[in-house]
Amino acid sequence: SQELLQVSEKLSAVGQLAAGVAHEIRNPLTALHGFLQLLHSQAENGENEFYIHVMESELNRIRSILDELLMLAKPHPVQHTEIKLDELVQSVVSLMEPEARLHSIHFDILSDSSVPFIYGASDQIKQVLINLIKNAIESMSSGGVLTIRIQRKLKYVEILLVDQGIGIPQEILDKIGQPFFTTKESGTGLGLMVSQNIIHSHGGKLDIQSEPGVGTAVRVYLPLPSDEFNSP
Ligand code: ADP
Ligand code: MG
Repeated sequence: SQELLQVSEKLSAVGQLAAGVAHEIRNPLTALHGFLQLLHSQAENGENEFYIHVMESELNRIRSILDELLMLAKPHPVQHTEIKLDELVQSVVSLMEPEARLHSIHFDILSDSSVPFIYGASDQIKQVLINLIKNAIESMSSGGVLTIRIQRKLKYVEILLVDQGIGIPQEILDKIGQPFFTTKESGTGLGLMVSQNIIHSHGGKLDIQSEPGVGTAVRVYLPLPSDEFNSP
């Protein structure tokens, strides 16, 4: 059993490494994908279309594999630093803008003038925002507005994302967050589950409300540090 213990320790070390690598690779990959799509849209009369198509589907495959690698990770302590959520949201939005523009989607960002910092793993929170914004973009196939509001509440910061997409019927809403549940042809069904895990490990909460045909509102709550360290 000593041996078994060592094996499982090794596995979880490998899992943590896999998750770390996956996080690091996914963000630049999202930028690559966005700009590749931009290139696609600007290519004249089908120029290089085949190559671009192959690159896009291979990039998607890398992303799916990374998502699955993420699943290997056991929750583990990571370095928490001060995060300014308004700045983090802005940087993720810049990253996602090429892809959004391609789908006639505009961002409307509203933020309290002084959003207090929170403590967290910024790469993980960034990943959550990417997952949620991606879902919103994918829900608005004929364009629309994605509103993101960042608000200070009494004991937490709330990030609200409201899309004008297809919405989620109740029977599907019940299954959301289950691993591998997807309604998309090339979905992984891991985005929300991973996001929920990350937010929970930060002591926060993720809440989804939706009306089919109208849109979806996702709320992320992240706790503020205790007041004495964070007076306004
Ligand atoms: P994936 O995006 O790979 O399908 P997710 O875990 O991110 O996996 O989402 C699971 C499912 O939840 C999606 O397939 C979709 O049906 C639904 N969903 C999530 N976000 C939205 C949204 N903003 N609008 C409509 N449906 C959504
Ligand atoms: Mg998703």
